[in-house]
Amino acid sequence: MSRRVDHAKASRAFIGDEPHIRFHDKRLWGLRELRDQAAHGIAEWEQLRALASQIKEHTLGNLAGYLEQFDRTARANGVVVHWAADAAEHNRIVHDLLAERGVDLLVKSKSMLTEECEMRPYLEARGIEVVETDLGERIQQLDGEMPSHIVVPAVHKLAADVAEVFADSIGTDRANADPHYLAEGMRQDTRPYFLRAGAGMTGCNFAVAETGTVVVCTNEGNADLSANLPPIHIASIGIEKLIPRLSDLAVFVRMLSRSALGSPITQYTSHFRAPREGGELHYVLVDNGRSARLAMDDFWYSLKCIRCGACMNTCPVYRRSGGLSYGGVYAGPIGAIINPTFDLKKYSALPFASTLNGSCSNVCPVKINIHEQIYKWRQIVAAQGHVGFVKRESMKLAGAVLGDPRRYRKLSETTGRAIAGLPRAFLYNPFNAWGKQRELPAAPKQTFHQWYAANRPSERVKPTVPCMAEPAAEPPQDQGETR
Ligand code: SF4
Repeated sequence: MSRRVDHAKASRAFIGDEPHIRFHDKRLWGLRELRDQAAHGIAEWEQLRALASQIKEHTLGNLAGYLEQFDRTARANGVVVHWAADAAEHNRIVHDLLAERGVDLLVKSKSMLTEECEMRPYLEARGIEVVETDLGERIQQLDGEMPSHIVVPAVHKLAADVAEVFADSIGTDRANADPHYLAEGMRQDTRPYFLRAGAGMTGCNFAVAETGTVVVCTNEGNADLSANLPPIHIASIGIEKLIPRLSDLAVFVRMLSRSALGSPITQYTSHFRAPREGGELHYVLVDNGRSARLAMDDFWYSLKCIRCGACMNTCPVYRRSGGLSYGGVYAGPIGAIINPTFDLKKYSALPFASTLNGSCSNVCPVKINIHEQIYKWRQIVAAQGHVGFVKRESMKLAGAVLGDPRRYRKLSETTGRAIAGLPRAFLYNPFNAWGKQRELPAAPKQTFHQWYAANRPSERVKPTVPCMAEPAAEPPQDQGETR
């Protein structure tokens, strides 16, 4: 049985490492600022977001038909199309393709789907060497770690960390952490793999049903080398990557790189439609839980995701805890809503790794209601009994206090003074994680309510929020209905 991810515990080492956390926070917030500048440079940005959301929702609402159309047009172009119900079938298909052709080396560009399927260890256990060719992904492969970000996989590492990894694995100078030197070292190391590989693999950013085209957006050109140098190209495609027409692509291409890195477009936007002369092109269409998610009323919106990473860059929890602490392929806000669909118990802590500030939803180019889904997941996690004893009981207590204005007022009038009278060790001790990096401000002499009653006696109003014990006049609105 898979072990439950303890996000708070897993992030402890990263949080305690000042230079790394400062760099990580600054670098990702920098991407968020670049995203804002790029978005503000386009007058119709909000219309584009609405359109992108509508195209995705329309496609997902008619997914079966668009998948059949994509299958048909791709086959007519000479592509071999495979269908995989889950990760195991995906890996088996890829392995069979390689084994039947005697391929012992596969070069690949970045694909979160193949991470999700754990394809690399599967192939390596069967004697096939797999080489990641995206720089960040290769750094993580050589260091034996998962990607910590869906766009910049090694963003949690400093240049000095990369110098250490490369010195140990490809023999560069340990003392030289110049990014140009390190990138050149990787370039020299990777080229022979491209030339020797029997097959190349790419992911897919968009799959166009109308033309049977797979579109891959990269900044390093490694996807083009992976697809074009070896005789066989395999593209792994999540079924949610479909878009209806080539003209729809323009909407997403304008948004993807601006949302991800603040740049107008990726260096390469490559279209693959048919095998090269004498070569083979295979598409593997993968479900792996996507159909089940499509049937989830509150969570199907996450299938609109175009993997830009903007929600991660803006999230204060992600920026300060690092991607590896999420314990899954997808980190940050998008990870908090996708991972529980794979294994609710294992990822039950992730929906709590959020302040629910809504910034993720505000920057999402396809208008996914991320923070609302996080809130929904919390309710499900609690209802299914996956909340720990301390959190469960303290939430019950908080509910009893916050749901009763009289009780709340009484407690806020007395608690500040009571805490001030306690010995300091009561709050600041090894057992209270809250007190480790915080200092409780001194409580004011009066609560706001007391001040208001003393200074605005003629304006006293009754609280409008009903007590928990009293039934609300209207049932609460469904938080997920933002379609
Ligand atoms: S959820 Fe939205 S913001 Fe986050 S990665 Fe997906 S598309 Fe980007």
